[in-house]
Amino acid sequence: MHSLDAALELLRPRKRLLAFTGAGISTESGIPDFRGPNGVWTRVDPSEFTYDKYVTRADTRIRSWEMRKDSGVLDATPNAAHQALVALWEAGVLLGVVTQNIDGLHQAAGLPSEAVVELHGNVRTVDCLECTASWPTPEVIARVDAGETDPHCPECGGIIKVSVISFGQAMPAQEMHRAGEMATVSDAVISIGSTLSVYPAAYVPLEAKETGSAYVIVNQGPTEHDHVADVVVEGAAGKVLTALVEALVPS
Ligand code: NAD
Repeated sequence: MHSLDAALELLRPRKRLLAFTGAGISTESGIPDFRGPNGVWTRVDPSEFTYDKYVTRADTRIRSWEMRKDSGVLDATPNAAHQALVALWEAGVLLGVVTQNIDGLHQAAGLPSEAVVELHGNVRTVDCLECTASWPTPEVIARVDAGETDPHCPECGGIIKVSVISFGQAMPAQEMHRAGEMATVSDAVISIGSTLSVYPAAYVPLEAKETGSAYVIVNQGPTEHDHVADVVVEGAAGKVLTALVEALVPS
């Protein structure tokens, strides 16, 4: 474990920061993470929600829509940590954000969409898996609320799914490519609110480190990269990032 001062000393001279974010950056917005102490996986078995089960079993789809409907993600708003990254972007020292999150809160905070790479998709859109139709998620949730427990595509009858990457589903090639490019041109990578245990996403900060970037981790609890990072700051993302920005960005 290291101090905030150690992180500042490392980051102060660097001007091409890459943020790699996970579910922990959004818990202060009221969205539970997966593997933290109150994480979703303490209540639900992830093996029940694979892509394969979603496309083959109506009961899995029905449970997925119920959980989606009750999750509150669509109503969540950005917190101090998301705002701190916007301040770094506006100061011209943030290359971009590579996120594992599906909540869209980096863009809601004010980052332009070209600054955000979403490796696991975004919960705000639903796609048909068989044709090209897609809808804003609230439209489909309204159908579920109206009694369609397993809504299908009104155009072609196909299975529809929130535009996120499920377990067992291929990673989006274009986003992986963009993330790799950002990693190699960054001079520091800050991983925020992630156990760094979901691959291939977690290769992104490792690639940055291997190509010469300093590596800072901000997290509550241990991560799988603590032994690789230059500095590990234990603490709440909102508080730590606000302090980092106050010190790095002159007001
Ligand atoms: P994870 O659940 O594995 O790890 C989250 C980490 O953040 C934990 O170590 C936890 O203790 C820590 N944490 C929680 N609150 C924090 C805070 N306020 N400040 C600092 N740290 C905090 O999450 P992951 O590594 O992102 O992997 C989970 C996968 O789940 C990702 O692929 C992501 O797509 C998905 N997910 C996304 C959301 C979202 O979009 N908000 C929510 C849940 C899960």
